Amino acid sequence: MRETRNIVSRKKIAKGAGAGAALALGILCLCAAARAQDASGRAKLNGNPDAAKFVTSDLNNFLHAYALASHATTDAEKAAIYQREYLDKGSPGLKDFVDARIKSVANLVHAIDTHPKYYASLQSVIPQVAPMEPAMRASFRKLKELYSDAVFPDVYFLVGRMNSAGTTGPSGLLIGLEMDAKTATTDMSEMDNWYKAVLGSPDHLPGIVAHELIHYQQATTDPKTLLAASIIEGSADFVGQMISGQNINTTAYAYGDAHEAELWHEFSTEMNGTDFSHWLYQGDKSKDRPADLGYYMGYKITQAYYERAEDKKQALRDILMVTDFSALLRDSHYADKFASANGGEDLKK
Ligand SMILES: [Zn+2]
Repeated sequence: MRETRNIVSRKKIAKGAGAGAALALGILCLCAAARAQDASGRAKLNGNPDAAKFVTSDLNNFLHAYALASHATTDAEKAAIYQREYLDKGSPGLKDFVDARIKSVANLVHAIDTHPKYYASLQSVIPQVAPMEPAMRASFRKLKELYSDAVFPDVYFLVGRMNSAGTTGPSGLLIGLEMDAKTATTDMSEMDNWYKAVLGSPDHLPGIVAHELIHYQQATTDPKTLLAASIIEGSADFVGQMISGQNINTTAYAYGDAHEAELWHEFSTEMNGTDFSHWLYQGDKSKDRPADLGYYMGYKITQAYYERAEDKKQALRDILMVTDFSALLRDSHYADKFASANGGEDLKK
């Protein structure tokens, strides 16, 4: 039985980010998703992109429970409704999500009562999810074309208690839709700064699922250095974009493109260390520039590696299977483009 791990991308962090280093490590490990398979485990995984299921039944059950609970007068009554109509009828994915993140129906009711306008807005967001299946299926097929060893988990779209946008369990990828349900008209008055920073848009769901699908393929589940963690994240963005057509963090990437050389010089002095706090999983902590620019640095290194490779399929395999991140950086020759800006010093050495 594989361990249940949290999915972490930029919006995927667990609420309670004040918990510091222990949490940061937890976040990071979790990011690698459930791809941590030994050879026998991987062999059991589904290799057919058309056989993966995109499950939205829990979203419909949630809406039904939500409508019934709006007539309830006590928390106990609400809890009984959500238990009976949502959790008890749940898919295998929802069962895993309860174990990993929701924990109890009381937690769910508390989150709904604390953010009533936001949860009410899910009524208009939820119907947008099932129609995205063709786009997500297309991403899965595209990955299979590019990488024949790809594996395809089932994907469950769920409503949780605003503490996790994604996790994986034995059942597959578990997407906490309520963390990516902010639209142009969402009333954010109930939200603290952390939520304002991390809540995402449902328009990005295909890109988010693609990013997590790439994590599912990666050989390295527990990157130790900032360089490794940034390449793990940035390559999930890079390959995820290749298969979905979506960049899910355009603000940070636009900033990165405008400040690439200075970011590289800063990043390169920190990348062999284990402090991720300036670059990854920052939540609302980055005040003077977009958060999580480590994704951008990892993306650019991955892109450089891929673009100079003659055999693109092998390059993609190298990227997904990388365990020696310094070698990948060296072979990408990404640093070369900044060498002249550094007084001619050859940064690739
Ligand atoms: Zn990620």
